[in-house]
Amino acid sequence: MEIKELLRMGVDKLGEREYLNPTLDALLILEFLLNVDRSYLYTHGDRVVSDEIVDKYVYFIEKRKIGYPLSYLLKEKDFYDLSFYIDEGVLVPRPDTEILVDWIINTAIEKYQNRPINIVDLGTGSGCIGITLAYHLKNAVIYAVDLDNKALEVTEKNILRYKLNNRVVLCNGDMFDGIKSLQLEGKVDIIVSNPPYIPSQVIEGLQVEVRKYEPRKALDGGSDGLDFYRRIIPESKIYLNKSGILAFEIGYSQGEIVKRLFIEEGFCNVEIIKDLQGLDRVVVGILP
Ligand code: GLN
Repeated sequence: MEIKELLRMGVDKLGEREYLNPTLDALLILEFLLNVDRSYLYTHGDRVVSDEIVDKYVYFIEKRKIGYPLSYLLKEKDFYDLSFYIDEGVLVPRPDTEILVDWIINTAIEKYQNRPINIVDLGTGSGCIGITLAYHLKNAVIYAVDLDNKALEVTEKNILRYKLNNRVVLCNGDMFDGIKSLQLEGKVDIIVSNPPYIPSQVIEGLQVEVRKYEPRKALDGGSDGLDFYRRIIPESKIYLNKSGILAFEIGYSQGEIVKRLFIEEGFCNVEIIKDLQGLDRVVVGILP
């Protein structure tokens, strides 16, 4: 079959499910299988593709059609200005989370300049937050914590991809348990987390990509979605130094309540930051 026939067939099949982006997904799958870029596909529409590639393409299109996340097929996802290895068992990095990372990079450059700093990333998943911070903040050591072995494996691959093994430390454990033997009490400049924050009963109503294929323990924040904020905010005070920063991604309806949790625990300069859609997406605060 020719490239242009494959693309048309892929777009038709994927188009049967309404919330996919059929053209983009078909292009990305074929680019990946042929190891070429977009302009190649458009300029070589008549190229005949081997049966082996056609079979793989059909398999990928069928998987995608039932909602299997594209990033698990391509094993890759762009995030901020980097690209991460991704596999089943870790949450696919979202553009929403770039807001959190961008705020921390800008704030840390201004506040700490070149002074050495410690950052803890709780529930690192693929490592996209911690590794992007390490890549941009050359003065930072990052402690990337996760309790899931698959997440730690994926994070490790990403650490090695960017040769950051001297500054990103993998920590195995449930939130702060992962760093409790490291004597970091009072020595952490920034604690960041994109914890699970979806209310348990909401998960069943999410699109199949998320509900069926992404790890539930990276999504489920308990009955009101706030379990992890309630755990992390008080405990963060043991590890943060004076004027240390705590920064979270949140669900769009959680801004005011998470802000209140910060203030109840004595944080100051508590701010809600909006995403590109104008929705509350990040809450940050400073420990006086
Ligand atoms: N932003 C993710 C979603 O909407 C949720 C991530 C999380 O719970 N931390 O699917």
